[in-house]
Amino acid sequence: MSIAIETAGLSETQRQIVELAREFARTRIEPHAAEWDRTKHFPRDVIAELGRLGFLGMATPEEDDGMGLDAVTYLLALEELAAGDASIAVSVAIHNAIPTTMLVRHGSPPQKERWLKPMARGELLAGFALSEPGSGSDAASLCAQAVRDGADWVLSGAKAWATNGGTADVMMIMVRTDRPGARRGAKGISTFIVPTDAAGYRPGKPEDKLGLRASNTVAIALEDVRLPAEHLLGEEGLGFVYAMEGLDVGRLGIAIQAVGIARRALEHALAYCAERRQFGRPLREFQAVQFKLADMATRVEGARALAHAVAARKDRGEEITMQASMAKLFASETAMWVTTQAVQLFGGYGYMRDFPVEKLFRDAKVTEIYEGTSEIQRIVIARDLYRGA
Ligand SMILES: Cc1cc2nc3c(=O)[nH]c(=O)nc-3n(C[C@H](O)[C@H](O)[C@H](O)COP(=O)(O)OP(=O)(O)OC[C@H]3O[C@@H](n4cnc5c(N)ncnc54)[C@H](O)[C@@H]3O)c2cc1C
Repeated sequence: MSIAIETAGLSETQRQIVELAREFARTRIEPHAAEWDRTKHFPRDVIAELGRLGFLGMATPEEDDGMGLDAVTYLLALEELAAGDASIAVSVAIHNAIPTTMLVRHGSPPQKERWLKPMARGELLAGFALSEPGSGSDAASLCAQAVRDGADWVLSGAKAWATNGGTADVMMIMVRTDRPGARRGAKGISTFIVPTDAAGYRPGKPEDKLGLRASNTVAIALEDVRLPAEHLLGEEGLGFVYAMEGLDVGRLGIAIQAVGIARRALEHALAYCAERRQFGRPLREFQAVQFKLADMATRVEGARALAHAVAARKDRGEEITMQASMAKLFASETAMWVTTQAVQLFGGYGYMRDFPVEKLFRDAKVTEIYEGTSEIQRIVIARDLYRGA
């Protein structure tokens, strides 16, 4: 019995995608992940390869040059990439979830032609920038501003922790379009499609992070970035709504990223406990170790099952805001717990950079923070519970 995805019950398409992603992770990602982590190297060439294989268009409809995968199949592929390296998975997940969802739902035909299709073909990498130095959980209090100047918009302000922000070709950026003195809260926010070669788009140096070190995370200074009107996505004042829609899908992606991390930690722990001997026998023969491994496996299966159930709900066209928060909350806390147990089972070796579980432990932490902290997920869940009561 393996804790990896069982391919027996999958459709032919799902099986092919899982096998392609698993093989890619095994040969092109995992052998290099420790080195990328040490050197903070973002492997843009590997992302480009994934793009050529179609992984940057997983969630894009076929008529827009994507694979048009359902959400369950998307999660199957993403888990395999995350088990290889969470940094690669987050780049792919953000691109597929938030900018893609925004353009699919709200892009005009020319915007789809110019941005969505090349993104789906893997020719352009995308990211999104909502957070600012002063606004994370309270995202609607953001301050970056766009003002009209003739037919153009001019953007200025500071964004924080944008994934892909220093390597992407295009960013979806949330800024205020309401006026100082006539603020409209979340209704004063709009989304702009910002090419990263626009004059005044200035990414900072990659952040030095605890984990996910190969992922490109940067602050962005917007210094009078001038954009023609066709760079406004959808309707003025609806940018926050679009961001929240994207985050529903994004949170499912983070949930499965956490499952991939946890599963890999469990796989390493299983192998190590079979090999490491103390008191004259392998660790796996001690009942306390068996109980730990059993609990780890149960939580990984549970987190995956919940994420897949929410994805199936999305595929049926149902609301998923509360359920996506549940899936992310449960999976990220699972990843943190399972990787902590894995480090414990490795003992002193678990604390060493030479062994894989300490990286998984460091990578797991961010899943409890980004795309809404665990506290914010609980707030979203409670709010929906109260609404239904
Ligand atoms: C590696 C990385 C990549 C990221 N990528 C992106 C990206 O691509 N795009 C983007 O826009 N952002 C990105 N972020 C930002 C991320 O989404 C924010 O860090 C996150 O939303 C939390 O915001 P904050 O850091 O400002 O924390 P704060 O909002 O300041 O929160 C600090 C603490 O207070 C708690 N808290 C806040 N409000 C409440 C409340 N009402 N009740 C209870 N507790 C509360 C939080 O849960 C947290 O524990 C990234 C962050 C990281 C670390």
